[in-house]
Amino acid sequence: MRDRFQAEKRFVDGAQFIGGRLTHGTSGRTQDVVDPATGETVFSYHLASAADVDAAVAAAVAAFPAWSSATPGERSDALHRFAAVLAGRADDLAHAESLQCGKPLKLSTGFDVPGTVDNAAFFAGAARHLQGAAAGEYSADHTSYVRREAIGVVGSIAPWNYPLQMAAWKVLPAVAAGNTIVLKPAETTPLTSLLFAQAARDAGIPDGVVNVVCGTGPEAGEHLVAHPDVAMTSFTGSTAVGRRVAELAAATVTRLHLELGGKAPFLVFDDADLEAAARGAVAGSLINTGQDCTAATRAYVQRPLYDAFVARVAALMESVRVGDPFAEDTDIGPLISHAHRDRVAGFVDRARARARVVTGGAAPAGDLAGGAYYLPTLIADAPQDSEAVQAEIFGPVLVAVPFDTDDEGIALANDTPYGLAASAWSRDVYRTGRATRALRAGCVWINDHIPIISEMPHGGYRHSGYGKDMSAYSFEEYTQVKHVMYDNTATAAKDWHRTVFGDRT
Ligand code: NAD
Repeated sequence: MRDRFQAEKRFVDGAQFIGGRLTHGTSGRTQDVVDPATGETVFSYHLASAADVDAAVAAAVAAFPAWSSATPGERSDALHRFAAVLAGRADDLAHAESLQCGKPLKLSTGFDVPGTVDNAAFFAGAARHLQGAAAGEYSADHTSYVRREAIGVVGSIAPWNYPLQMAAWKVLPAVAAGNTIVLKPAETTPLTSLLFAQAARDAGIPDGVVNVVCGTGPEAGEHLVAHPDVAMTSFTGSTAVGRRVAELAAATVTRLHLELGGKAPFLVFDDADLEAAARGAVAGSLINTGQDCTAATRAYVQRPLYDAFVARVAALMESVRVGDPFAEDTDIGPLISHAHRDRVAGFVDRARARARVVTGGAAPAGDLAGGAYYLPTLIADAPQDSEAVQAEIFGPVLVAVPFDTDDEGIALANDTPYGLAASAWSRDVYRTGRATRALRAGCVWINDHIPIISEMPHGGYRHSGYGKDMSAYSFEEYTQVKHVMYDNTATAAKDWHRTVFGDRT
């Protein structure tokens, strides 16, 4: 199973996809793609240089006039074909994603790939529904209307946790709206972004519309953001790098869309269904081994349910099978790398001074010792100002904290700089209604945590960034609106000219 996708055979011609062709990067440096379940290198490629980024941007500039003036129907047809090609390559995509990320194959097959195909199908439809205000005479002497136009070349930078879905979220709304794009995936996880771009080409999307450069953040990423021909940067990653991207974009006044880190609260009121909340907390914190920007990370539980919740979550976490991503009975796989596993372990070890590690808190022994594995971990009674509550750990770690009043629970939930997602658990419609209004996050779930759908927007508040992925709202990011105003009077001397000519006619 692990050998099914052989990257070195698939990308013999290189790991840069520019103008519809694979080429080798020219930085003079190579990058290994490592299987985090074994620590073995599965592919090695030449990283992109600034010159490769220039070539990709040039290809996107050249493709823009024809692609942006294609009719919505033509772009929609191409995206429908793209969705079909992706669906036909589901096996390849899922195996490559599991290999480079260590995701269980059941997650890649059941979530990442179908989510990507559905996104392509959604944007194929949405491409025909770009809307604006109705034309009208908002001044008696003029007719106004709005043109919604593509922006130009979009530079996109994506993280390693969901490489395929991130490629889809970045590329699809951009090209559906008539832009062309240069995508830079995380350098450690390039495989499915390259497969995605090849599928776009094979679906008949013209060369140069979708380009992928695989290089490092400081070299290829910064060059892309600062490039004078890039009209917009769409970045998904950590808040720290998002700040750097914003600084660079300021110099060229480049439009920005930032999807940054998260530390989602999971708020359990005392009338909640305890079993549903405990299961939801375990699934919501462990999905993708906790490397999910919307993962449940802070469970605030009202005091009467707290002890039972902690006990049930610990028991459920202990039943989760950590193992080889390609084994059928595996529930969660390794973290993305040994370095990241050690970082996660560091957070948990430091938390012990002020909180209780109820379960987990270690790497598994035995057969799994060679991979970047870490056991599902529950930390209880952590103080609100502690690092474990405030910082994004990005691993299979849930922190539980008790609260007394509803107001206190909501205040604690809002008390980090992040605002990407949150959930509230209760059977009382007034309590959940109040929580939906009071929680400061771009997505609030009630009695669930994690599901996403192509039709609805995803994006943050506060330090989690701004702008929306998915849904028709993403077109607000990837289009610009032009007001066109026609004079209706057919006269040389217009009424408003009095402001300059006075009463001289
Ligand atoms: P990261 O910020 O380290 O890297 C993200 C991307 O930025 C990578 O492609 C990287 O090469 C690039 N990069 C690094 N330095 C750069 C620079 N100086 N200039 C330009 N580009 C640079 O993030 P990561 O570790 O890959 O991903 C994890 C983070 O992503 C977490 O914080 C997570 O919450 C966040 N994330 C957010 C969302 C969302 O929708 N809000 C989704 C997924 C992940």
